[in-house]
Amino acid sequence: MTESVPAEEADRLAEEVIKDYGRYVNDGMARLYRFMGFTALEWENNGAVLKDVQGKEYIDCGGYGVFFHGHRHPRVVAAVKEQLDRFALSNRLLPQKPVVDLARLLAEITPGSLQYTFFCNSGTEAVEGALKLARAYTGRKGYVSTHGGFHGKSYGSLSASGRELYREPFYPLLAGFSRVPFGDIAAMEGAVTDDTAGVILEPIQGEAGVRIPPDDYLPRVREVCDRRGALLILDEIQTGLGRTGKMFACEHWNVVPDIMCMAKALGGGVMPIGAFTAKPEVFEPFNTNPFLHSSTFGGNPLACAAGCAAVKAIREEHLVERAAALGDRAIFKLKRLEQEYPETVAAVRGKGLLIALEFTKEGAVGLLISTLLERQVIALHSMNQNRVVRITPPAVITDELLERALTAIRESVAVVNDVIDDL
Ligand code: PLP
Repeated sequence: MTESVPAEEADRLAEEVIKDYGRYVNDGMARLYRFMGFTALEWENNGAVLKDVQGKEYIDCGGYGVFFHGHRHPRVVAAVKEQLDRFALSNRLLPQKPVVDLARLLAEITPGSLQYTFFCNSGTEAVEGALKLARAYTGRKGYVSTHGGFHGKSYGSLSASGRELYREPFYPLLAGFSRVPFGDIAAMEGAVTDDTAGVILEPIQGEAGVRIPPDDYLPRVREVCDRRGALLILDEIQTGLGRTGKMFACEHWNVVPDIMCMAKALGGGVMPIGAFTAKPEVFEPFNTNPFLHSSTFGGNPLACAAGCAAVKAIREEHLVERAAALGDRAIFKLKRLEQEYPETVAAVRGKGLLIALEFTKEGAVGLLISTLLERQVIALHSMNQNRVVRITPPAVITDELLERALTAIRESVAVVNDVIDDL
């Protein structure tokens, strides 16, 4: 534990950091921090708790789904430290063990015959690789994705993503993509053709505001892909590794994709890592030529050591089951807000610890987030849906902290409700 910094010194430091954000990182970001009052410096995090530079504690229900294990899970930190003491990055000429250990674990925990894993460093890279593999395997050029879907912001993944705000300045994007409404099987059926290499979607759309499809949707998308000879690529970057109360969200509907993308929680909240896992026959083009797709830092020993510890912690600490139980409890309690504040709360929904509060007005989102911050709880907006706040507590959160967070949410929604007509 480090000492917290005295108030005056902390204010000066925060001012300096935000000023330098404006000068050297991103001026728009600096303005946003000031405007929203997000000016306390993140300083030291542990489990479900984030501490600012003055030692003030916040319950972290944000983090875009990265902190399923909380911050600095002791097993993950220990594994990374141990690996760091031996070798950090691999030379890449000789084989190394951590990458194999993690790939074997992923073959064990992913559903069906998913087996071969390519490692990279982020979610968007996992999607890029999956899109390339689908083309290499099928020899086809087209893709189908869904409105509201979020797959990352590099060119391929952006081409699959569903919000014009982030796409339009970068036209022309990759050719061959068509997009259909999420959850609409007839539209999917009409869009998948004999030239479709892959259908890419999230089993539950995260950035679109935790949109859960009808129960027959994913199984029927699987059927459409099989009938047309297209691959099903599931983006489990946000939903994977326990977040929704199953190890992978596709298991809610017993659907096995041909390629599955992961990232976020795979690094155990400690290391950045991305990956995609494919069925052996689908991975064949990359097996035939192992240099067809590559990444200098992908599969590095530190990230893989973190990944192994993260998967073992999920299994041995029963974090998937805990996410399911805590999620049921939280959603049940938050659901009451729909009846209590019908003018303000449009819907509460979720699976496991991926929970959405959808408001009737966009203005409610920023106000709720800053009101929650005053009550020392962190929650986040959604990239592709301006009326949704996402609540994503770690599975390691204690019952007491979760209750405190839920109480703060209820109080904050009441504050928003008082001014909803003016928003
Ligand atoms: N796919 C999904 C479902 C995501 O939620 C995200 C990030 O939020 C990404 C892809 C992109 O991941 P990254 O930001 O690591 O590139």
